Amino acid sequence: MKSAAKQIARQRIQLLFQQAKTVYRDNPQLSSRYVATARKIAMAARIPLPTVHKRQACKNCNTLLVQGENCRVRIRQKREPHVVITCLSCGCKTRIPLKKKREKTKLERDNYQNETSC
Ligand SMILES: [Zn+2]
Repeated sequence: MKSAAKQIARQRIQLLFQQAKTVYRDNPQLSSRYVATARKIAMAARIPLPTVHKRQACKNCNTLLVQGENCRVRIRQKREPHVVITCLSCGCKTRIPLKKKREKTKLERDNYQNETSC
């Protein structure tokens, strides 16, 4: 029973993010509402937001982050290598540490996918 509910929640989150992306150009406010709803669903179902979607949402103002549009992505080498994503609508910064591991981390795999798709 419980896992079925979580499965439904995952599907809804995915749908909401798809919708958020499609309406972003015409109605950024609506897309923020979709993101907020998706995050609420994740919290209610007690499942982590998928990493891919986590990187696309500002946790401060729920804006859908579109690279080159409303967020700044920078690599910093201070202390340890990390990526900084700055939300340009509220100025909130998200740090993602880049850990060097034998096994590729999820972020690295995502990045690899992004590079190959371009
Ligand atoms: Zn923000």
